[in-house]
Amino acid sequence: MENRTAIAWEGMTRVDQQIAQWVEETPFVDTHEHLIEESQRLAGAFDARTLPCNDWAYLFRSYAAEDLIVSGLPAADLRKFLSPGLSGQEKYQLISPYWDRIRNTGYAQALRYTFYGLYGERDLTAESFPRIAEKYYETVQPGFYQRILKLANIEGCHVNSLQRIFMVTEQPALLDQDISILQLCRCSAADFNRVEAETGKRPETLDEWLHVVDFYFSTFGPTAVAVKSQIAYSRALDFSFVTKAQASRLFLHQIDRAGHLHALGPDDLKALQDFLFRYCLGKATEFGLPVKLHTGVLAGHGVMQLSRTRNNAADVCRLLRDFPDTRFVLMHIGYPYEHEFIALAKHYPNAAIDMCWAWIINPVACVRFLKEFLMAVPSNKIFTFGGDYVTVEPIYGHAVIARRGIAQAISQLVAEGWISLEDTRYLIDRIMRGNAHSYYQNAAHKSRGSCQTLSADR
Ligand SMILES: [Zn+2]
Repeated sequence: MENRTAIAWEGMTRVDQQIAQWVEETPFVDTHEHLIEESQRLAGAFDARTLPCNDWAYLFRSYAAEDLIVSGLPAADLRKFLSPGLSGQEKYQLISPYWDRIRNTGYAQALRYTFYGLYGERDLTAESFPRIAEKYYETVQPGFYQRILKLANIEGCHVNSLQRIFMVTEQPALLDQDISILQLCRCSAADFNRVEAETGKRPETLDEWLHVVDFYFSTFGPTAVAVKSQIAYSRALDFSFVTKAQASRLFLHQIDRAGHLHALGPDDLKALQDFLFRYCLGKATEFGLPVKLHTGVLAGHGVMQLSRTRNNAADVCRLLRDFPDTRFVLMHIGYPYEHEFIALAKHYPNAAIDMCWAWIINPVACVRFLKEFLMAVPSNKIFTFGGDYVTVEPIYGHAVIARRGIAQAISQLVAEGWISLEDTRYLIDRIMRGNAHSYYQNAAHKSRGSCQTLSADR
């Protein structure tokens, strides 16, 4: 297949073209996705959260749907758009006035590159959508995850399952998995239900709960690639030291004699979460697993409290100091406070930054961020791609945007005289794949035997 989405921009010099070619040729290690299992896509097994419909509208689920809403699409119309009940024509009519408003955002551009790269369609229009609808179904065939990732020149993905605390994947050679510690620390009713569904246990004491945590780490720690927490969606990242005795008392307070869960007050809940989170950090460190933390803007719409998000960088300093042997990966560059994350990665040996998701939140800010990061922080401390999708298809378009941004950032640094062209070949390999291979040296990676990198000897 022709390369439909080669990196190009107005006024490219020959040096720019050389850099763009190297970026095109270099595979990404994709360090963050939420992909469901391919078999669920093939079966079209509906699920309100991860597979609300099985047609071209599904590609909007993350994240273009959010731009549609904030551009003015009524929430009730979005629910209809993402439901299985409507015809393609009805779905197109619902969103077409809003598509025009969002077409230049990173979220929508990722879809447009996807439509072009996978389906050969340059845009979503009244004329093209029936073909896009048809090609959606033609694409969903056995092996399509591998095929799309190969087309996007991606070696493999890290997956943070939204369905299980640890997903035992059908495709371990392609999809490394994170242990999701959110459900082990948050103490919501849903977390108790999830643990019970997966383990058959409904802990009534802190020790019983810690036993469950230990079970997840001893069972899945050896094959997991990392642990992941998106607890920043529900609270600040200020985890204080709490004694086990206090945490035990709080744990008992939330369970009555009949084993029913009662909500703790906010301070008590925070203290219990603080204890459990720090316990999980200890387990991650014991198993040599990096800890990936969501930082920065929240997905969704109408819920973010920016005052809390703004403090993410300051709040994690305590963790970085208290857990010097734990490797922290601060995700999404903490956008829109990315400058503070450059300072963290520069100062703390145990802090690395992941640009996952960020390229489509604000592609131009990411070009600026990458330039500044590379001038301030050792180049082994950054991972430059993760699509952050539940659906595999838009990873393709997101990777196009990330490659364009990486090529631009590096080209600009060369043009401005900050780095030399001969240094860039190795730098590109390092930030797109080499860093991930050397940082995430878990059993799954080793068994795949893909640890040799160009940057290994630099
Ligand atoms: Zn994510």
